[in-house]
Amino acid sequence: MLSYEEALDHLLAAAMPVAEVELIPLADLRGRILAEALVSTETVPPLDNSAMDGYAVRCVDVPQAGVALPVAQRIPAGSVGHALAAGTAARIFTGAPLPRGADAVVMQEFCAHGPDGSVIVNCLPKPNMNIRRAGEDIAAGAAVLSAGTRLGAAEIGLAASIGAARLPVRRRLRVALLSTGDELAEPGQPLPPGGIYNSNRYFLRALLESLGCAVTDAGHVPDSLAETRRALRAAAECNDLIVTSGGVSVGEEDHVKPAVEAEGELSLWKIAIKPGKPLAFGKVGAGGTASSAAFIGLPGNPVSCFVTFLLFLRPYLLKRMGARTTLPVARTLVAASDWTKAEDRRNFLRARIAADGRVELYPNQGSGVLTSCVWADGLVDTPARQTFRAGDPVRYLSFTDLL
Ligand code: AMP
Ligand code: MG
Repeated sequence: MLSYEEALDHLLAAAMPVAEVELIPLADLRGRILAEALVSTETVPPLDNSAMDGYAVRCVDVPQAGVALPVAQRIPAGSVGHALAAGTAARIFTGAPLPRGADAVVMQEFCAHGPDGSVIVNCLPKPNMNIRRAGEDIAAGAAVLSAGTRLGAAEIGLAASIGAARLPVRRRLRVALLSTGDELAEPGQPLPPGGIYNSNRYFLRALLESLGCAVTDAGHVPDSLAETRRALRAAAECNDLIVTSGGVSVGEEDHVKPAVEAEGELSLWKIAIKPGKPLAFGKVGAGGTASSAAFIGLPGNPVSCFVTFLLFLRPYLLKRMGARTTLPVARTLVAASDWTKAEDRRNFLRARIAADGRVELYPNQGSGVLTSCVWADGLVDTPARQTFRAGDPVRYLSFTDLL
């Protein structure tokens, strides 16, 4: 059996990033992977400006609180004033450029109106008070986002703040999804005797799409070698990767393995983790041709399928998408539950953080109990042959970093 790290190393070593780059407008960038570093041609903010609504002054003109100054100009955001004459103040608003000569802004809450239209400054201003300096966020020429960044809300906002309208991103990874198993019925259909509803198909699609893959749902293949081979060949045509669920155990109804072997190459890995021991990796079609695709076969049990997606497929996909960071960061937290079953495989237990910050375990850790994945907000990574008690430290991986 392979360890988790060995299997992951094999997968990542084989994961070549897609080469094609496209220029995409800001509105469509969420989840895309930046192909080159983004360098700012702008200074942000472009000018020294006021952080408050108030009065711009020269500190030398206000040696003590209570000084009255004539208000010589008014500078709303979006307009540029003129140099501040000695002994005067400028009415100024948040975001408006600081007039030349001013070295502080006094909040309007600390000012009063004098009878002659002057402003009475009721505090002692200090240089730089309430001023946002030009370039304090971004200097012209600075790299603001590095290649391989996954673009989320903050990154897209930052790109907009330097005036970039489009960004070069890797093209989407094209993934075909196949589910196997004659027992599977589709939601919306009546459940035949011996049938179960196909759940993997739907959560795998959601997981792939939330990572930014272009998913082709290639449907549900019957348990037959010929049908499985045909479905694999068709899926390899215009996709980078084929993902299947089920059919990779060693029963005679498990046709994925022989079908991939017949159509390409396959390694079947037994990985010393729970849930999700079997994982198949290979390719369909002659390597490097347009009609070939990488292949990953996930286990059929829904929880095994879900967890192996997060632990293996997700980092593999991110690397192929050109992302810089592929692995989640674990946190050490305190257990709220006991785990008393020492098992011979490393266990990724469905868990969630309670109100007191400790981690509790879902009571049923069965590999078919998909409720555990809904209840949980992460996984507790437990070494083989190890137990823990409430109060012990545990290694927690958040779904926030995994989905
Ligand atoms: P297999 O890996 O094909 O032997 O399947 C292992 C278990 O997972 C069996 O109980 C299957 O019925 C179940 N299973 C396989 N595929 C799915 C699916 N798409 N949705 C729900 N359960 C599945
Ligand atoms: Mg099956």
